[in-house]
Amino acid sequence: MQPHEYEFLRHKMVERLEKEGIRDQRLLEAMRTIRRHIFVDEAVRGQAYEDHAVPIGLQQTISQPFVVARMTELLELRPDHRVMEVGTGSGYQTAILAFLAGEVYSIERISSLMEIAERLLANLGFSNVRFRLGDGTCGWPEHAPYDGVLLTAAAPRVPEPLLKQLRVGGRLVLPLGDEEHQRLKRLIKGEGREHRMEDHGGCVFVKLVGKYGFQDRGHD
Ligand code: SAH
Repeated sequence: MQPHEYEFLRHKMVERLEKEGIRDQRLLEAMRTIRRHIFVDEAVRGQAYEDHAVPIGLQQTISQPFVVARMTELLELRPDHRVMEVGTGSGYQTAILAFLAGEVYSIERISSLMEIAERLLANLGFSNVRFRLGDGTCGWPEHAPYDGVLLTAAAPRVPEPLLKQLRVGGRLVLPLGDEEHQRLKRLIKGEGREHRMEDHGGCVFVKLVGKYGFQDRGHD
């Protein structure tokens, strides 16, 4: 496929997202700008702008465009915000965050995925992203507090360290549930233990593996 064909598909994707209710204009601009197809293998690039998840190897997937858009919108990012992402994967969501926020801290547990994402983001010219290899359920306390925290893998419960590293009034967006089905949740941190928890519908993600996630059973 030629670059202009990908561009056409990308604009179509954004039109669909608008019809599906995505309103944040800066976010729509980010999704019009960032070339999603470069984040997947050449063999599946033709599918990059369809509204479904696409495999990125090692049994992981790049999340579907609508889910990326909805989760990002729920973070309500501003250019001065600091955001933490757990589950870098392909790095596509990371690039969207980097377009919208001031600083992005992204954690991935699979080194080969992290290395590819890191290279792609550097090639795109983003200098406001830092990557870390390890268990993201423990967060990245050195840069806390965060205005937003995003989990792009399914969690059985809200990982306590991530909540702790969120500022009061900050937003934590995550898929919460079992290994097969989850609900997209947004938690808005209050003072003390008073947090607001909202439900944003059903979703399906690969699982979060770690100390405050699901147990590691190898790549199953
Ligand atoms: N936003 C990514 C989603 C990738 S799938 C994208 O659209 O490409 C979820 C990712 O979370 C996988 O890459 C998986 O390896 C990673 N992951 C799972 N548990 C993790 C953990 N505890 N810490 C960091 N990354 C984790």
